[in-house]
Amino acid sequence: MTDDSSRRDELATNLETVRGRIAAACADAGRSPDDVRLVVVTKFFPASDVRLLADLGVSDVGENRHQEAEVKAAECADLGLAWHFIGGLQSNKAAAVAAYADVVESVDRAKLVAGLSRGAHARSHQVDVLLQVSLDPPGREGRAGAEPSDLPALARAVEEAGMLRLRGLMAVAPLGEDPRPAFDRLAEIHRDLLAEHPTATWVSAGMSGDLEHAIHAGATHVRVGSAVLGSRPQFK
Ligand SMILES: *Cc1c(COP(=O)(O)O)cnc(C)c1O
Repeated sequence: MTDDSSRRDELATNLETVRGRIAAACADAGRSPDDVRLVVVTKFFPASDVRLLADLGVSDVGENRHQEAEVKAAECADLGLAWHFIGGLQSNKAAAVAAYADVVESVDRAKLVAGLSRGAHARSHQVDVLLQVSLDPPGREGRAGAEPSDLPALARAVEEAGMLRLRGLMAVAPLGEDPRPAFDRLAEIHRDLLAEHPTATWVSAGMSGDLEHAIHAGATHVRVGSAVLGSRPQFK
């Protein structure tokens, strides 16, 4: 069990560092650390790591690929974790994702809503939904997320569907740009959403490299992978 205990030590040390960064960023921004939830992104890492993380007090994990997430969530069903789906979503997989995800953060088009609602109904379990909004300039390659102007209609579609709870927004800072103005834009977009949907209070933003900026701009959830688990294996 030496391997397991050294991996546990490694994860414990990294978690402590990340929790310290979150606490420092909250102090800096005059926010309570209780207002920011850490979602540990476990994609590419085995269920054994998820188990260790749960034992170290992690409550929320994130995955971005349906097949991998489905298997891992089943393997770890006894841990009582909240599973966040944060990846690109095909509409024909939406119901299957809602069958295990507690939060689907990457809802970027109305076409996904019916499937998510169906999956949530089949499981008799409300699924929390975040709308993923693009902070990239239009036309950028590999861009994910809805246009800010499409959010009002998308938010209404989620609210009108059964068993889905509109919780807020998710975004990724544009690659190769200063994340600060992007997260400030996100905060503005969120204010507009809140005006129509006062319970959509969550903002999921910030990853290993930019969580401080996200917290400063008001993020309620940070999605941290490599700073906790180490660099992801390069193979698929
Ligand atoms: C992989 C991933 C993360 C975590 O990224 P790190 O840089 O490893 O912290 C966060 N959000 C999304 C959407 C991701 O796909």
